Amino acid sequence: MGRPHPWLFDYIAAPRRANIVTERTETALSTVVDTRYWHSVGAGRVQCDACPRACRLHDGQRGLCFVRGAESGRVRLYSYGRSSGFCVDPIEKKPLNHFLPGSAVLSFGTAGCNLACKFCQNWDMSKSREMDTLADSATPAELAAAAQRLGCASIAYTYNDPTVFLEYAVDVAQAAHERGVRSVAVTAGYMLPAPRADFFSHMDAANIDLKSFSERFYREICGAELQPVLETLEYVHSETSVWLEVTTLLIPGLNDSDAEVAALCAWVADRLGPDVPLHFTAFHPDWKLRDVPPTPLATLRRARRIGLDHGLRYVYTGNVVDREGGSTWCSGCGGQLIGRDGYDIESWNLDGAARCRRCRTVCAGVFDGAPGLRAPGRRGVRLASARERAGGA
Ligand code: SF4
Repeated sequence: MGRPHPWLFDYIAAPRRANIVTERTETALSTVVDTRYWHSVGAGRVQCDACPRACRLHDGQRGLCFVRGAESGRVRLYSYGRSSGFCVDPIEKKPLNHFLPGSAVLSFGTAGCNLACKFCQNWDMSKSREMDTLADSATPAELAAAAQRLGCASIAYTYNDPTVFLEYAVDVAQAAHERGVRSVAVTAGYMLPAPRADFFSHMDAANIDLKSFSERFYREICGAELQPVLETLEYVHSETSVWLEVTTLLIPGLNDSDAEVAALCAWVADRLGPDVPLHFTAFHPDWKLRDVPPTPLATLRRARRIGLDHGLRYVYTGNVVDREGGSTWCSGCGGQLIGRDGYDIESWNLDGAARCRRCRTVCAGVFDGAPGLRAPGRRGVRLASARERAGGA
């Protein structure tokens, strides 16, 4: 068993324990907005077209995600500009190992989710029915400015699935691009084609969960379907310039058999190609799966080996400290390109053109020169509004 690390286990978790830095914001914000993807289905009902759940709603009803609902004959978003918290993270925490390694990313999420994963690590937010869990707020312009001030190369839409707050995420991404700050989606990819194309046209990188390679797992454990996720993965890889990495959380006894891992790796190699990084990460008991044990390091290493044997060039272990499985290795000579200990970068053996310094094989990814060694520390950020300050908050 590898050495557990106190903060590796919450790689997607929201900033409950981080040190808090307060940033000032000034602008009043409407938190209820019209959504872009819905249509009327008659008999006084409207259908949300953001995700394959296709919730059909009467006025006053909310969808499964709870943050989108029907009002005055249209579908509205009730969490625009609201957040469960902001945090400065290392980009490796998303996890993205080939997108601006060593850079800082301003992470945030809202509330609600369009999946119902029994192992959710952020269930208090993703399953929240209370808007008062959204203690923070910021306009897109304020958020983009804060990211720039805090030295973040990108903003991540994470903690809960950005599909449910698409309109806010897109507006933030546009404001961020105006300041040269990039956007990172951390998503389950459970979306319909039109919002998918809209959303990813504003993203620069994405880590998409491929939660298993079984329709049954998706149906019984996540309350969703596999096929739309595969379509999103292929779409992002083939139809966009978004840098893509894939994560599979391995849960003992549920999705970690050699046969399923091999089928998943074969699909990634065939449909996405050998250069898309694949992360096998460790489960820890949470939400409705508290009786399942944590994933042994040996399981993650076995899965990594299966991926490499299928021709994938960049396969990682995550949520555990595993120097070999967390580092980036050259697909040409096998030498170490980026040495990592957890999220700390310990060595860097790429030249300015992202080639191996030994054999000149190019490493796939988005690079901006060598980062400083070690990762940026994790900091929570409070975007205090003028309204709060006026109220003495
Ligand atoms: S985004 Fe929410 S309201 Fe819309 S279809 Fe999906 S779960 Fe239903």
